[in-house]
Amino acid sequence: MRTASRIEHLPPYLFAEIDRKKAEKVAQGIDVISLGIGDPDTPTPDHIVDAMAEAIRNPANHQYPSYYGAKRYRDAASQWMKNRFGVDVDPDDETVALIGSKEGLAHIFLAFVDPGDYTLVPGCGYPVYHTGGILAGGKSHFMPMTEENNFLADFESTPPEILAKAKMMFLSYPNNPTSAIATPEYFDKAIAFAKKHDLLLIHDNAYCEIGFDGYEPISLMERPGAKEVAIELFSCSKAYNMTGWRVAFAVGNAMAIKALGTVKSNIDSGVFTAVQDAAIQALLGPQDSVHELVEMYQHRRDLVIDGLTKIGLKAHPCKGTIFVWVKVPDGYGSAEFATKVLEEANVIIAPGNAYGPSGEGYIRISLATPDDRLIEALGRIESTL
Ligand SMILES: *Cc1c(COP(=O)(O)O)cnc(C)c1O
Repeated sequence: MRTASRIEHLPPYLFAEIDRKKAEKVAQGIDVISLGIGDPDTPTPDHIVDAMAEAIRNPANHQYPSYYGAKRYRDAASQWMKNRFGVDVDPDDETVALIGSKEGLAHIFLAFVDPGDYTLVPGCGYPVYHTGGILAGGKSHFMPMTEENNFLADFESTPPEILAKAKMMFLSYPNNPTSAIATPEYFDKAIAFAKKHDLLLIHDNAYCEIGFDGYEPISLMERPGAKEVAIELFSCSKAYNMTGWRVAFAVGNAMAIKALGTVKSNIDSGVFTAVQDAAIQALLGPQDSVHELVEMYQHRRDLVIDGLTKIGLKAHPCKGTIFVWVKVPDGYGSAEFATKVLEEANVIIAPGNAYGPSGEGYIRISLATPDDRLIEALGRIESTL
């Protein structure tokens, strides 16, 4: 048998070598600390788990879910957008449930990208913005992200011949992997740019609940004209420690939401309705757990940035997300430094270039790691320098 060429066109999995080395070490009984994974280490809050325990006993929840999300879930998502950002989105025409935002990010390509079409993709970002395009036969243009422009993807520099064939543009702030945040003015420019070049703008707002030092991330939907050109994805994964539950939603431009819903209705059959009931509790129930989570990550951020500064490594200022973005010492590439740290210190860090070309020269440290393990890992990294 022969696989489709789209499988061969996927980039090599940059963690393959790291995974192999890790497995070797673990087999030898070595204690490997992973700062590589962006998966919350603390459990889903009790009130959400309790809502699920009740919802799972409701026989109506045992049947096929709605393709687009239960009416009560879309109502809750719309209400949450109102509570959190003061934004009005229609729960019927401007909201769709997702089986995690990754699902929506991958499927949006099938709704908008024909073979050969371009997507403007952040120079470093969540890998699906690029691989989702490849699987749909599309092409990526990586928008440069540099420290000098605060890691705000530079869409203005896109060559006209690429723009002529571009259909979509992805942005995501607070940003994974750089932890950069966007200004309202940047969002306004992105909206105007998308309008001018007839692009669908997709904002991945996975970290909008994780802001530090009192910073509250905004929604692209708060900005004037957003709904004419954009959709935004929100996920319960990081805000409510629900990565394993697979529940998220997209809101915004009705035509784009409808097109995404059409793709979904032909591929998947929606989110388990009991999970949607639990997510309603997450979105509209008490939000204390979110504040506690933010405090915990902020404390870990301080610990990591202090520790890095003491050993002479420079971190980008971190106002949100669960990541610290760090410049590699002079003379190293991303992969080279990550390999050295794994080999000599038994600590896994993510090489920045795994997230795209703009990530070269950096590594990403995940804050989804208990304090004592972070401290231990920093000590070990110091010993390699
Ligand atoms: C974790 C993450 C997601 C995926 O979220 P799910 O809802 O769990 O699929 C999407 N985007 C970014 C930037 C992420 O870091």
